Amino acid sequence: MARYIFITGGVVSSLGKGLMAASLAALLQARGYRVRIRKFDPYLNVDPGTMSPYQHGEVYVTDDGAETDLDLGHYERFTGVSARQADNVTQGRIYQTIITKERRGDYLGATVQVIPHVTDEIKAFAMADTDDLDFVLCEIGGTVGDIESLPFMEAIRQLHNDLGRAQSIFVHVTLVPYIAAAGELKTKPTQHSVRELTSLGIQPNILLCRCEQPLPESERRKIALFCNVRPEAVIPALDASTIYAVPQQYHAEGLDDEVLHAFGIEGAPQPTMDRWIDIMDRHSNPEGEVTIGVVGKYVGLPDAYKSLHEALVHGGLANRVKVRLQWIDAELFEQADNDIAAELEPMHGILVPGGFGVRGSEGKIAAVRFARERNVPFLGICLGMQMACIEGARNTAGITDASTTEFGATSEPVVGLITEWATKDGTQQRSADGDLGGTMRLGAYPAHLSANSKVASIYGAQDISERHRHRYEVNIGYQEALEKGGLIFSGLSPDGRLPEIVERPDHPWFIGVQFHPELKSKPFDPHPLFASFIEAAVKQSRLV
Ligand code: GLN
Repeated sequence: MARYIFITGGVVSSLGKGLMAASLAALLQARGYRVRIRKFDPYLNVDPGTMSPYQHGEVYVTDDGAETDLDLGHYERFTGVSARQADNVTQGRIYQTIITKERRGDYLGATVQVIPHVTDEIKAFAMADTDDLDFVLCEIGGTVGDIESLPFMEAIRQLHNDLGRAQSIFVHVTLVPYIAAAGELKTKPTQHSVRELTSLGIQPNILLCRCEQPLPESERRKIALFCNVRPEAVIPALDASTIYAVPQQYHAEGLDDEVLHAFGIEGAPQPTMDRWIDIMDRHSNPEGEVTIGVVGKYVGLPDAYKSLHEALVHGGLANRVKVRLQWIDAELFEQADNDIAAELEPMHGILVPGGFGVRGSEGKIAAVRFARERNVPFLGICLGMQMACIEGARNTAGITDASTTEFGATSEPVVGLITEWATKDGTQQRSADGDLGGTMRLGAYPAHLSANSKVASIYGAQDISERHRHRYEVNIGYQEALEKGGLIFSGLSPDGRLPEIVERPDHPWFIGVQFHPELKSKPFDPHPLFASFIEAAVKQSRLV
């Protein structure tokens, strides 16, 4: 039976609980254990799919089509274990399930209550589908003391009893702030946070203390004493130079040893850290540097493009170069007095990422045009590919009114709403005025790549599967016109109806993809498109 590690956070938000969970899972995996990480989100949205990136950062999409929290991206990047719908649940989804059951009459006349009905539903989620695992790590979103997270705290408290005490432990992530004026690290917020946790019936086994300065032994002992844990279980977590240094750092501080100790596991094999050592060697000893301009909409909020950022870093690791990212607001290029060339000339590669809505779209199209005309490596992702097709239609195929129906009615719908598409479970139907939540082409879909295309040589395969999250599609009816303009449809859905990849054979590196390759890239297994894009940027850097 799987053992459970419940991870809570205290003092402040943004302590990096997700990274901590991912790193601990990677360390257990490096010792040969089978792991899976789950995330409980206390908010009332059914999933993050309808939330603005400003609210929530990136929406991470799984193979099985779930729109999930961006922490699931960290989990996959650190463990290589594909996340599933069943690995992320929100309070909204829990209540939706309960209310559906209640309306059906499933509760047989009972009064439906937080305890036991909500907590039972949370427990069922935590326990589902875990037979083949050694460890399940459950991260509770939010901070101890939040009203929203109370049912989750109560559910994990109950689970600890239900499972048997040797089957589960609690890890609490806190902050030990440094007060410069006093020249001291302060342990009081951690003490208060643990007191809050114990008042809910949860005694943490391990405290992971985020701090900017090394934690003196005296402070470690003080925290242990006040918080009722062994001094060895107070693990300092200093800021790291890169997130990929975190597994090794936590291992050096004894986190995985302490977890095994808390479960009473003795004689576990030492972790095999080769993978992380290699990543850090590549990160720390780059042989060059390239600058990539990302022309998008949410450029003020790096979390909105989390996986994209990481995939570009992975492309750098693959080529042993440092990747410098320049986030450029596409709207800048819509102002008449803005000199696009001056802005984009220093870039060794240009990327137009996914996005929604018309704002900034003309700027994105201008960036595509610059990349095409100046032979600068270009990668368009999702909306970025759609913009590349509209640019190609307007400027190389003579379709001057080319647009997408996403931006309003158009006489030349080079990109349009497709209201049905084929899946392995049959045809899925969508209506133009349906709900916005969960109604996109979501999750893994296969694509077939043309022989002799650039993408087929990059992938080293003609049949691929990639993750999607979009409502509109490039209109296959424009294939002939666009191809005459030099933009080749080199990847299609297996039925030949949906364009998946476009490329320009007369350009050094110009590729647009309808899917999100960044979601599947790992530091130890960089996605081939990103590895190849950065390789092209390295070549470009030698030219300019
Ligand atoms: N807005 C576009 C669509 O819905 C692209 C979506 C995206 O880039 N993820 O098709």
